[in-house]
Amino acid sequence: MTNIAFIGLGNMGAPMAANLLQTGYRPTVYDILPEAVEKLADQGARPASTVAEAVAEADVVVTMLPASEHVRDLYLGEGQLLRHARQGALLIDCSTIAPKTAIYVAGEAIRLGFEMIDAPVSGGVAGAIAGTLTFIVGGSAASFERADPILHTMGRKIFHAGHNGAGQTAKICNNMLLAIQMTGTSEALSMGVANNLDPKVLSEILKNSSGGNWTLNAYNPYPGVMEGVPSANQYEGGFLVDLMVKDLGLAMDTAKESCSSTPLGMLATELYRNHKAAGWGRKDFSSILKTIQEK
Ligand code: NAD
Repeated sequence: MTNIAFIGLGNMGAPMAANLLQTGYRPTVYDILPEAVEKLADQGARPASTVAEAVAEADVVVTMLPASEHVRDLYLGEGQLLRHARQGALLIDCSTIAPKTAIYVAGEAIRLGFEMIDAPVSGGVAGAIAGTLTFIVGGSAASFERADPILHTMGRKIFHAGHNGAGQTAKICNNMLLAIQMTGTSEALSMGVANNLDPKVLSEILKNSSGGNWTLNAYNPYPGVMEGVPSANQYEGGFLVDLMVKDLGLAMDTAKESCSSTPLGMLATELYRNHKAAGWGRKDFSSILKTIQEK
């Protein structure tokens, strides 16, 4: 059976590694936090206490880290994943990072005889637990094929977006659009309520009219309209404002570098940065409705 190393056992990585275990793989796991490693070891994973130990025997290495700098440091910095991994290993980075970092790290990896893809995910912690993530892959067709069975143990839909970095670009486009949709939906619902409409009735009308969109169908930001979503639970859980601000920052960098016009993306970025500065960073991103209502 394929030997897998899994590095980065946070909110997303831990349940993803647990799903590998459930489908019969026995990954070797590593995180800078020993307690995260212990938790996975209790479920049957092989614990490692260094990057070198984690990747030494691995045919495939999966990484799930917070941001660009962590990925660059892990692969190229002091720990030097690329120095310790086995020749020919397939490296799959699932973190959401800058496309240019993904391209740079993959370039170094391929130069040293590895295969590498970027495979950021959509679907959040709930999707990671349920094994229903969407993977958006950048890399060669051959590496995509090689990764496919492993990604299917953690996700349901696997897309090949293009060359290295393309997965990150597509993911960032998606999250910029999501932030714009969530802000627009929050504005429309707040204006309706300020004019004496019932948010439940208005949501039904919008869902079935030309303003309908994913945030209304699956993630209504107005408390009391939908059950089982963060707005029904004081905006706890879900996708953190901190992470949305990070992704919008990546989107704005990408827009600047490609001279793309993103006026709505810029506005959404400013709104989310102000929302974070007002203390909402650790709440779900649908809480933007609260800042809009205050204004
Ligand atoms: P997290 O902060 O919960 O987990 C990151 C883990 O990486 C932590 O356990 C941390 O200790 C570990 N880590 C950091 N540097 C390390 C290193 N050098 N070596 C080993 N381990 C290291 O973050 P998360 O919520 O799991 O998110 C991970 C990535 O997934 C991010 O890029 C995020 O943008 C993306 N993402 C998150 C969500 C979500 O809903 N949380 C959804 C989609 C995508």
